[in-house]
Amino acid sequence: MQVLKFGGTSVSDAANMTKVVNIVTKALENDRTILVLSAVSGCTDTLIRIGTLASEGDESYVELIDSLQKRHNGIIEEFLPRESRRQVTKECDEIFSHIRGIAQGVRLLGELSTVSLDAIQGCGELLSTRIVAARFASLGANSRWIDSRKIMKTTSSGGHNAIDRAATGRNISQMLASDPDTRLFIMQGFIASDEKGRMTTLGRGGSDYSASIVAVGCRARELQIWTDVPGMMTSNPKVVPTARTIGHISYRAALELSHFGAKVIYPPTIQPVVAEGIPIYVKNTFEPEAFGTLIEKEPPAVSESNLIGISNSDNIALISLEGSGMVGIPGFSSRLFETLYLHDINIILITQASSVHTMCIAISEADAEKAKKAADETFAYEISLGKLNPLKVEKGFSIVCLVGNDILNQSGTTGRMLAALGRKGIPVRATAQGSSERNISVIVSSDKVEKAIRCIHNEFFDKGSEVPVNLFLTGCGVVGGALLDIIAANADAIAERTGKRLLLAGLSNSSRYIIDEEGIDPSAARELLKNGKSASDDAWFTALKALSLENSIFVDCTASAHVASKYEQLFKAGYSVVACNKIAFSAPFPRYRAMKNAALRYGAGLRYETTVGAALPILETISRCVNSGDSVKRVEAVLSGSLNFLFSSYRGAEGPRFEEIVEQAGKAGYLEPDPSVDLSGRDVLRKILILSREAGFPLEESDVETASLPDWHDEEAFRRLYDDAASKGCKLRYTACLEVAGDGTCKASIGLRQVDETHPFYNLNGTDNCALVRTSFYPSPLVVQGAGAGGPQTASGLLNDILL
Ligand code: ADP
Ligand code: ASP
Ligand code: MG
Repeated sequence: MQVLKFGGTSVSDAANMTKVVNIVTKALENDRTILVLSAVSGCTDTLIRIGTLASEGDESYVELIDSLQKRHNGIIEEFLPRESRRQVTKECDEIFSHIRGIAQGVRLLGELSTVSLDAIQGCGELLSTRIVAARFASLGANSRWIDSRKIMKTTSSGGHNAIDRAATGRNISQMLASDPDTRLFIMQGFIASDEKGRMTTLGRGGSDYSASIVAVGCRARELQIWTDVPGMMTSNPKVVPTARTIGHISYRAALELSHFGAKVIYPPTIQPVVAEGIPIYVKNTFEPEAFGTLIEKEPPAVSESNLIGISNSDNIALISLEGSGMVGIPGFSSRLFETLYLHDINIILITQASSVHTMCIAISEADAEKAKKAADETFAYEISLGKLNPLKVEKGFSIVCLVGNDILNQSGTTGRMLAALGRKGIPVRATAQGSSERNISVIVSSDKVEKAIRCIHNEFFDKGSEVPVNLFLTGCGVVGGALLDIIAANADAIAERTGKRLLLAGLSNSSRYIIDEEGIDPSAARELLKNGKSASDDAWFTALKALSLENSIFVDCTASAHVASKYEQLFKAGYSVVACNKIAFSAPFPRYRAMKNAALRYGAGLRYETTVGAALPILETISRCVNSGDSVKRVEAVLSGSLNFLFSSYRGAEGPRFEEIVEQAGKAGYLEPDPSVDLSGRDVLRKILILSREAGFPLEESDVETASLPDWHDEEAFRRLYDDAASKGCKLRYTACLEVAGDGTCKASIGLRQVDETHPFYNLNGTDNCALVRTSFYPSPLVVQGAGAGGPQTASGLLNDILL
């Protein structure tokens, strides 16, 4: 025998039901099978809502029933052959009449008792199994629909339904024995009936448990839980995209994971099969060939670290008993525990936040009020004397639990977990460890729980694969925008190649900013920024200072002096800076030096290759020489793509006027909005300063000899310059030059030069840049040449600096 259970998402519509039928049909080739099904996804929630609305006198429950019926009729229409539909529709109609009847009763009484709730919420499984059974019948399978209420029996214990294992076991044996020819039994999960024959249920997610009880009852070879994920995973894949499937896991570890929230398996499911040693396979309905997870008694060694996974339980309240009266007087804790026990309040966890005069316990939020009332009654006397405070109740917490084998004997695990959370700025309210050698639990505020899980997963399960790099980008014009586009298109490939996962954690322009420590979708970022927070009064920088993410890089894609003035503060706050903004690097030398020293002092990265020649490795070439004992002798360079475009396009009398070319270049986006910024040579002046400083010379602006250009409307003047050069077979190039004399002093100059056809700049066209670098070791020049401007080019240079 084998038992196959399919969850709600596996039977959510006709297409998925067909997948189920195919999987079961294949499984039937191996063995006689009991199929246990859940209700179609969302159905149980809707049925509960129907009951609740009816009890509140809200008539809209009727519409909910109508739409649920419509959904099932739709599935019948699509999933079943015409000849089967009538009969099944009739069966389902009867179930819906039953639902309507009970809901109406609830509406009249104005009360949803547990009996009525069970009578409504269990109907989803009756519907789904009727539909699937009809399909097997239509296929001629040797199958039978079974009413689980006749098989699964519950008794009431302490207000809960408990399975009567003996009676249920007998019923299963009898079912199989009385029908030896049937190959496939189709049963409902989740539902049962009590001594009076009334429908009962086994708790939310209880179909897994039904299947487990059935597996034991029929002494199944194996139990298969089919669901919508590839197995039990290192964490909930909906929270942690990098979660991995656990191939083999022990019953105990699986129980620990599910107990603390891995809802892929309902926790009570595991215990019944353990005694019989029945293995549980967790498999994916949407990927049936994949192995999934095998839960068994003695799995092969999991991993070197013995760590298995992370789960979480939400809606946790912390209750604390505090007071000076607790000191030295025994018995407070036992009285509190007894009170909770007597009021049927489950203690989920006892935290280590206890001390001589406090103790702190985690319970379900749903029990919080009850616990407070009960404890305050129990300790009324001590409270009245001022020895104890009334019970303190704090809500809104979650427990995050790291599960592993023998986890407590591995040194440093708790420390690493807390340190990782600390680095992400996630406060830990309390911790618990030691009650089981299989888990370490931390309690965090529920609004931080997903972040905490990802953080712990990253620390213990993603390590060695990817390191996050958090980017805070300022300026999203041509270059910033191109950077966003490149990241959007290449982040996965970059992560694969470099092991670095680029995360856009923040974005700003001059008026707004957005921050999301979890990462912003770079392709949606500019749109999101429109509704970002106001960046006035330096709010963006204040927000950055308050964050404490590791590997944070501030990327300056502006031309703003204000942004440049913030670098030192950013280093101090733990950020590295990558910039294409030239201002800080061409500032007066003492300021420049102070900024570089600050970066060193705080251990921050400071990279600005793109300030000269966009992505061309001009500064890198120079700094590599200087850092390796070489010395720069002479640098001759065309450093302005804009000016090079103008002078390589201008052909004197044979072409358009100079000002027309300026206009054309402006339209093509090759110039600053105000062309005089380029034409004044100011941009080139900054670049030669940066370049000289990189070569080791503390030059100031005033040290650079600057030959100014004529006014760009003065065609006559440009014509003369052009004609003069042409008459000598030369071309005009705007160049920057750094010349080091024998005594080590250096001279820098910028201006228009005539170059003849033997010169490397002669054929430099368009917006290209070129640097000829002569050093002691390289007397004939190193040549770096290529596109020296452009959004994508500069952005790619920034990216290289980011990844350094
Ligand atoms: P079904 O309807 O098949 O019973 P459930 O929704 O009850 O499915 O359980 C499957 C879900 O459990 C998955 O979709 C996943 O989001 C969630 N889940 C939580 N923790 C884990 C985990 N550690 N491994 C796999 N899934 C998990
Ligand atoms: N249908 C029930 C629920 O949603 C039982 C189950 O799916 O396991 O809780
Ligand atoms: Mg489930």
